Amino acid sequence: MGISFNVPPYIGREQDYIMEVIKAHKICGDGEFTKKCNKWIEDKTGVTKALLTTACSTALDMAAILTEVGPGDEVILPSFTFVSTANAFVLRGATLVFVDIRPDTQNIDEKLIEDAITDRTKVIVPVHYAGVACEMDTIMEIAKRHNLLVVEDAAQGVMSEYKGRGLGSIGDYGCYSFHETKNYSMGEGGALLIKDEAKVDRAEIIREKGTDRSKFLKGVIDKYTWVDMGSSYLPSEMNAAYLWAQLEAADEINNNRLASWNAYYEQLKPLADAGRIELPVIPAECKHNAHMFYIKTKDIDERTALASYLKENGILAVFHYVPLHSAPAGSKFGRFHGEDKYTTNTFERLLRLPMYYELGLDNVGMICDKIKEFYAAR
Ligand SMILES: *Cc1c(COP(=O)(O)O)cnc(C)c1O
Repeated sequence: MGISFNVPPYIGREQDYIMEVIKAHKICGDGEFTKKCNKWIEDKTGVTKALLTTACSTALDMAAILTEVGPGDEVILPSFTFVSTANAFVLRGATLVFVDIRPDTQNIDEKLIEDAITDRTKVIVPVHYAGVACEMDTIMEIAKRHNLLVVEDAAQGVMSEYKGRGLGSIGDYGCYSFHETKNYSMGEGGALLIKDEAKVDRAEIIREKGTDRSKFLKGVIDKYTWVDMGSSYLPSEMNAAYLWAQLEAADEINNNRLASWNAYYEQLKPLADAGRIELPVIPAECKHNAHMFYIKTKDIDERTALASYLKENGILAVFHYVPLHSAPAGSKFGRFHGEDKYTTNTFERLLRLPMYYELGLDNVGMICDKIKEFYAAR
């Protein structure tokens, strides 16, 4: 008995769709299910083109190639993020410039970005933490004024919006994750969202090992050739079939997660009102997808004690991210610009509670009761 931290979503139609793929003897990528998933993302977000990839990490790699950053160029990103946000640009030889986050959303502080810009800056990478949007109007305005590109790490942001616009569709490129820990899953997988029609051809080439195979398959050319750099970023059709079952049920999954999220919020609000913990803040212009429910404790000791107490009671709660600038690779490949007021502080205080499709309100109630018990005894 116990409550897992995450359970990958499963709707029920996944195996039927996978069997269809197997019976059609077409298990490599870019079949009907991949196309349906691409189109779903395009319809949902209004982005010009979406391409399923093997991961959000590889969608970020593709975006980094498409921005044409290289050695000597600088990329601005938060330090409070997953390593893939940074790796994509490190692989191009670029230098990372980390900027502090906001204490309310844990997103990059848009007010600190401009000061970090130098004549070598090429790209800004906002990460939409917990599926809650960064302050995109401000970020896009800064990018425009300084002639910079914007790559949104929207790994956690599928179905989330900023001022009515789908996350991942606002910057030049957006990257989604369909890893099993995300709201919609294909095991391992992701998508690259491309705003500029003129970049689509090159993106398709990079995704097909640097060949123009996708044009060949469309009948535009009669043989395919190696024309650019690239790699194997195209996921198998079996994974796309699994994902399609989830995207078909996207509203149901989203509503179910939101119900859990809202129940957490309601039940923990008295503790927040009493000043014992902090709860997530959703700015008015953001519609979120309940990717994550987290609280912030007083300090690292309290966080550790609470996580242990929950674990003793069969509840798995976890923390992240070790700030990238304090990891060995972070100091090798980049620098922190300005003061680390909230990045390390958030890492030390933040605790993520169980959150997944069909977690159930009974479980949420039980978890909240345990948290209340913990604070009542302190
Ligand atoms: C999950 C995640 C990634 C990586 O996604 P994969 O699909 O596992 O490669 C990148 N960035 C952020 C912010 C994430 O949460």
